[in-house]
Amino acid sequence: MRVACPTQDDADALSTIARKSQIPVIADIHFQPKYVFAAIEAGCAAVRVNPGNIKQFDDKVKEIARAAKDHGTPIRIGVNAGSLDRRLLQKYGKATPEALVESALWEASLFEEHDFRDIKISVKHNDPVVMIEAYTQLAAQCDYPLHLGVTEAGPAFQGTIKSAVAFGALLSQGIGDTIRVSLSAPPAEEVKVGLQILESLNLKQRRLEIVSCPSCGRAQVDVYKLADEVTAGLEGMEVPLRVAVMGCVVNGPGEAREADLGVASGNGKGQIFVKGEVIKTVPESKIVETLIEEAMKIAEQMEQDEQDGAASGAPTVTGKPEVTVS
Ligand code: SF4
Repeated sequence: MRVACPTQDDADALSTIARKSQIPVIADIHFQPKYVFAAIEAGCAAVRVNPGNIKQFDDKVKEIARAAKDHGTPIRIGVNAGSLDRRLLQKYGKATPEALVESALWEASLFEEHDFRDIKISVKHNDPVVMIEAYTQLAAQCDYPLHLGVTEAGPAFQGTIKSAVAFGALLSQGIGDTIRVSLSAPPAEEVKVGLQILESLNLKQRRLEIVSCPSCGRAQVDVYKLADEVTAGLEGMEVPLRVAVMGCVVNGPGEAREADLGVASGNGKGQIFVKGEVIKTVPESKIVETLIEEAMKIAEQMEQDEQDGAASGAPTVTGKPEVTVS
């Protein structure tokens, strides 16, 4: 969890937050180098600094490196297109991928001079194309862990798409160790989007997955409504269940058979599939409640199997890098 620290009051609160938080706290330092020391002293799991918005940061690197080393605190160097060093802005004319990378590696080199390498780097930009290029160049030039972000990605819809496109391009190449989704929306939404991106890339075990058709001229049921009702009814389900909601009996059964649970609708009825077999046919009005009922039974069985140490049949993530949302 990232905690912004732009004032002395925030710096003073860090030790309490770090102590009481059940997940690691990353302090996000603004303006004053003294807050960096406060965050390290407070026992934060890591400290994020944006050299472009901290006064006389470069002069303080020696002391910061010493304090961070003494406390075993990693430092994230967060270069941001919006606060790029003036010297580099003049050199490149704008926040190009090269400018972002040069800035990050310059700051990293200041820490390296003091034999400090417990570093993670981000080079965020609001344009996914620039951002992808910057991280690609950075990954080719250093071995530090990279924190991915499309900064100021916009309102939820646009920001989700920009982030998914950029993270997908990079993570599928093995570039990126942690991610942050930046939306003009409540942070909880950012976390949900981030988790969904990781699940879509199979970098995190998938939970509930609704496979629903787009509907077409063959549809014999209101697929949108059905998919929405099933999704709402299964919200919060943690097991990796794949549920297919299909609008007809022409193409529907194929997808429904592939899922853990599915329905192929037609003629006012729904064929209910469990693990590839039709277990019953119910009237259209009973499709949602039947799917939810069957989903609960399968989920219970999966949980039981997991407790028994048996294979649950879920998609497993093996040999993949661990990427976290922060
Ligand atoms: S499953 Fe049937 S209704 Fe849905 S898109 Fe395919 S053909 Fe159309």
